[in-house]
Amino acid sequence: MARESANGVSYSDKMPVPETMKAWVLGDPEELSLVDKEVPVPGKAEALVRIDAVAICATDLEIISYGTPAIFEGGPPFNKNFTPGHEYMGTIAALGPGVDEFEIGDRVTVEIHAGCGQCKRCRMGMYTSCHNYGLNYGEMNKGHRANGFTTNGGFAEYAINNINTMIKVPDDMSDAEATLVVTAGTSMYGLTELGGLVAGESVVVIGPGPIGLLAVAVAKSLGASPVVLVGTRENRNKIGLELGADVVIDARNEDVVARVKELTGKGADYVVDCAGTEATVNQSVHMTNRGGKVCLAAFPKKPVEFDLGYLAVNNIYLYGIRGEGKSATHRAMAFMAEKRFDATKVHTHTFPMHDLPDALRHARERIDDAIKVVVSMRDSHAGAAAAE
Ligand SMILES: [Zn+2]
Ligand SMILES: [Zn+2]
Repeated sequence: MARESANGVSYSDKMPVPETMKAWVLGDPEELSLVDKEVPVPGKAEALVRIDAVAICATDLEIISYGTPAIFEGGPPFNKNFTPGHEYMGTIAALGPGVDEFEIGDRVTVEIHAGCGQCKRCRMGMYTSCHNYGLNYGEMNKGHRANGFTTNGGFAEYAINNINTMIKVPDDMSDAEATLVVTAGTSMYGLTELGGLVAGESVVVIGPGPIGLLAVAVAKSLGASPVVLVGTRENRNKIGLELGADVVIDARNEDVVARVKELTGKGADYVVDCAGTEATVNQSVHMTNRGGKVCLAAFPKKPVEFDLGYLAVNNIYLYGIRGEGKSATHRAMAFMAEKRFDATKVHTHTFPMHDLPDALRHARERIDDAIKVVVSMRDSHAGAAAAE
């Protein structure tokens, strides 16, 4: 039975929502604690999501250590009761006033960014590059949201999401697989929206992390040919082959640029560099054909020296990528729902919610060659139900 509260929010008896929830919050850098927080209330164009699973991303590790790129209430996210975590999925537990796009009980996965909807970039669909990033508080509130970056995220039992950021999950897709859709969406955004990839073009991906491996899978599904993966870890290169790479190049014992030229003739049409080191940025530029494109999908912390002259004289285009704009995540879901590739090949570990610190350690130290570590919240919900 649906019920409407005084503020126009709809709840249902089939998804009882408690007043408080368990949530991990960031204290000082590296300091996480599990606390009780009030369950948030969705506003206009928003829903409350009961989180069922959340994947750990390298950016979570960065936020927990350095704060950036999170900006919470106008500054670093430390000691503000801030909950990180952004690659989550769950079940809709309440609907904000006027929301009829979803129903309570729908399983959804989420993209991270809901831009302000007002700035020049949001109006272009580039809401991951919103000019009002972090402005969602106080007098200057523009309504921007990037969950786990500028608003509370997914290492908690519940989170608020704008309806534009939610995508329905098919019944036969597991919780863990659904957490990977946004990663595939980032790869999709890099390949199609930024790079304008069309079928038959050659793609090289450098760096078999989660985004790189799923870039291989998405590129193959989009009809790129050949799809080449460059990596140094044998196990990850093998997963790349399973996800659709036609060739893998082991950067430890092959001349990467020469090999790419041999495979493609005049060099690759599109190179996605997910490593971002001086060596790989230079390789990327030198392996791209004249008029080709390079997407930088890694965020090096220090300035990188590279052959800018070669890039300019060869009319090579260079793209930075920020997140997963232009609804690329929705299109990644369309591919995954059709089982064009098996994203779960990058999912290596699962932990319960109360073991988040151990889960983060596995991701950070790549223990047992961890690639994607997923935290399941199902135990936490079961515990709450038993306690009632
Ligand atoms: Zn992420
Ligand atoms: Zn905006």
